Amino acid sequence: MPQSEHFDVVILGSGQGGKLLAWKLARSGKRVAVVERRWVGGSCPAVACMPSKNELWSARVAHMVRHAAEFGTLTGEIRTDMRKVLRRKQDMVDREIAIHLQAYKESGAKLIMGAGRFVGPKVIEVALNDGGARTLDGAEIVLNLGSHAAIPAIPGLGAARPLTHIEALELDTLPSHLIVLGGGYVGVETAQTFRRFGSGVTIIEPGRQLMGREDPDVAQEIETVLRNEGVEVMLNVQPEGVSGVSGATVAVNARTADGKRKIEGSHLLVAVGRIPNTAGIDLDKAGVELDARGFIRVNERLQTSAPGVWAIGECAGSPQFTHVSVDDFRIVADNMAGGARKTSDRLVPYVMFTDPPLARVGLSEAEAQRQGVPVRVGRLPMSQVLRTEATGEKTGFMKVVVSAGDDRILGFAMIGAEAGEVVAVVQTAMMAGLPHTKLRDAVISHLTMAEGLGFLFAIVPERSA
Ligand SMILES: Cc1cc2nc3c(=O)[nH]c(=O)nc-3n(C[C@H](O)[C@H](O)[C@H](O)COP(=O)(O)OP(=O)(O)OC[C@H]3O[C@@H](n4cnc5c(N)ncnc54)[C@H](O)[C@@H]3O)c2cc1C
Repeated sequence: MPQSEHFDVVILGSGQGGKLLAWKLARSGKRVAVVERRWVGGSCPAVACMPSKNELWSARVAHMVRHAAEFGTLTGEIRTDMRKVLRRKQDMVDREIAIHLQAYKESGAKLIMGAGRFVGPKVIEVALNDGGARTLDGAEIVLNLGSHAAIPAIPGLGAARPLTHIEALELDTLPSHLIVLGGGYVGVETAQTFRRFGSGVTIIEPGRQLMGREDPDVAQEIETVLRNEGVEVMLNVQPEGVSGVSGATVAVNARTADGKRKIEGSHLLVAVGRIPNTAGIDLDKAGVELDARGFIRVNERLQTSAPGVWAIGECAGSPQFTHVSVDDFRIVADNMAGGARKTSDRLVPYVMFTDPPLARVGLSEAEAQRQGVPVRVGRLPMSQVLRTEATGEKTGFMKVVVSAGDDRILGFAMIGAEAGEVVAVVQTAMMAGLPHTKLRDAVISHLTMAEGLGFLFAIVPERSA
């Protein structure tokens, strides 16, 4: 084994939180190494959030141009050039890589490209991408390993070489028909993207609704949006086997309420959930325990079972969003400096970037019911938000869940244009502990989407005496 190089902090995996921690600690004078096997900057800028939203935006432009005549702009025939879509996406990724490399250089944190695994407590051996190996030890270790797409054990699926989001984002030709296994947010966003580029798309979802965590009315609205654009949505469908090869011809044999069905397409995308990247790196040699699903066991300060070893982001079982990985970084940085911030004191919003987008924060109506929390619910169609008269973006609704016993806002969901911006307004009010009547009576600029909040909060039923 080569002689070990000592660092104050070694970070395994350069996810969103890990790299920010590395730069912060290195700027403060610590000797920091980051080990990354593939993506400078982790998955968000390379293969996940940013490239998927980049291509979604290209698809939105295609959709708007297709509907331009409704707004008085006349165009000719519309076609998508996937090579240009891909080039635009790759240019963004390349810019991101350059920005990240600059941050490593400027902060002094060492980026070591290779695959790391533990060879002892707080000792990591790195198989370098360029060949050879290095051994690193750290006074503190941070694990920011991320996750990868799950490929379920369906006969024939592996042999069909399905796409995950990574390969889907590399397509330079348009699938004639994309089958999407899984109706969660990755599946739904990708379905809308390719439908708008011009592909036929079928979503196969084993559950009763798309977006299993959302209220049924929210899921139904998303389904309607997709169906109206020509996406075939199949619910309660159990895939039993796959034949053919994605990229040529591929078929999913499935059980439905109406009997067996064969769903045929040119490409197959699997988007059925994520598996943490915790296998095969000998975490047991570091004394780091996993839970039954393979996530690293952490406490509320993101400390693992091994003293001096922390975990950040998806591998630690944190909600699977970039902004949560960022907040995990803040929690670890605070605790390393003697603070006591915890994961339990945060409110986590999220956005699905379809058009219109879905945004959520706090409790859903169904979650309140399951937890036995008495609530009042207000629901406002987007067609009643005045701005939509100007833009035509009338699809969707806003929905707020307010405590029945007092005026606390417990949750908010919105499917509608700019939902991702509007949710931040409600989140801020929730964090400040404002009663819903404050937002009801607030003066909000006309003609904004957020103006709709005044109308929404005004229709929340009165508190019973
Ligand atoms: C298609 C898609 C779209 C998404 N869109 C959004 C979005 O719009 N908004 C949002 O908030 N979230 C989104 N997410 C989720 C988001 O990408 C992640 O939650 C976020 O990147 C945080 O990940 P992380 O910090 O846990 O780890 P990651 O960013 O995944 O980083 C982990 C890194 O560790 C490296 N690694 C793993 N094991 C080793 C090893 N043994 N040695 C060396 N390196 C290793 C990996 O190569 C990887 O680069 C999306 C995810 C997907 C799949």
